[in-house]
Amino acid sequence: MIADNAPDSQNLLESIIGLTEQRDQAALESSLIATLRELTNATRIALYALPVGGDGITLVLSHYAQAPNQEPPAPEAPSHIPLTLALRDAAYVFRSHLENGKAMKDASVSISYPVIGAGEKLSGVLVVDYPELSDQDHRLIGAFLRIYQNYQALLNESQRDRLTNLLNRKTFDDQINRILAEQLSAHHRRGDAGVYTLAIFDIDHFKRINDTFGHLYGDEVLLLFARIMTQTFRNDDLLFRFGGEEFVALLKTPDVESCMNTLERFRKNVERYAFPQVGQVTVSGGCVGITGGGLPTTLIDHADQALYYSKKNGRNQVHRYEHLIEQGQLAVVTQEGSVDLF
Ligand code: GH3
Ligand code: MG
Ligand code: MG
Repeated sequence: MIADNAPDSQNLLESIIGLTEQRDQAALESSLIATLRELTNATRIALYALPVGGDGITLVLSHYAQAPNQEPPAPEAPSHIPLTLALRDAAYVFRSHLENGKAMKDASVSISYPVIGAGEKLSGVLVVDYPELSDQDHRLIGAFLRIYQNYQALLNESQRDRLTNLLNRKTFDDQINRILAEQLSAHHRRGDAGVYTLAIFDIDHFKRINDTFGHLYGDEVLLLFARIMTQTFRNDDLLFRFGGEEFVALLKTPDVESCMNTLERFRKNVERYAFPQVGQVTVSGGCVGITGGGLPTTLIDHADQALYYSKKNGRNQVHRYEHLIEQGQLAVVTQEGSVDLF
């Protein structure tokens, strides 16, 4: 039986089309929430996620939508929800506000739906408040969550490099633009919000590794290099394989000094690592501060100039563009008239 207020199939199709038009995680989440709010009687829908770099248990509010008279959801998921982590296999849905297994007549019902991410692991929880329990809304939300999860898996795959599982070049373009926009607004809001840095790394004499040991060993070096990168940088730093044996990190640190310490620690971790068969591998790097108003191509060009300086001066070192300019090692080049193709 279809209730009077059931969304018609045209509405449903358009919602699915809208959802699958999104190209990044944040937009996808926000589209899911808006869609469910539109198609159901839910008074409040909140998506909580396990943040990268978090404790693996605390679910933090990511996106929500609500009726005008509702209180906004709590910044962290209600404390009973981590229980769903353990109960996931036993109980798909965790209901609260129930008395003796039945919804209280005048009480609203809150249902927590687990969101399953990569590797079949729980990645978040969708908490939906209904004025009353509705089987139809419940089923619709379940179905949309499955579409969302399938699409999210696809999106995730398209954002990563197959060999190393780091983010790919295409994702870099989206992320650098997001950071630049964030920088601009952070600057307007409260001035100093830490330092964002773009660092480029290029493995030293990689051709020699391929030539001496073969491409298979070359690939393994890339894989292990990516692993050292993941282990050295913080979970919320963004790490990319840019192409070949070039890697990029976008990191946020309290100041320039702690950024340079991190980059130096990474360089040393690579230098110290015994790569099977190949032995020692070193890396050169160049970095530049990201400031709002900059262009991604200019930032890459500046980091590249610092990288080139490291290569020219003996490799196995990391330099910062601004420092090289200050020290007179690099000259500011205006690029009017020239076209940068990356
Ligand atoms: P430098 O220290 O100046 O960076 O020397 P290099 O030999 O690393 O410099 P170059 O950039 O000329 O060489 C990079 C080599 O990386 C060339 C290419 O054959 C190899 N390469 C690029 N992509 C891959 C890959 O996916 N797998 C393997 N095994 N090799 C790759
Ligand atoms: Mg190279
Ligand atoms: Mg190289």
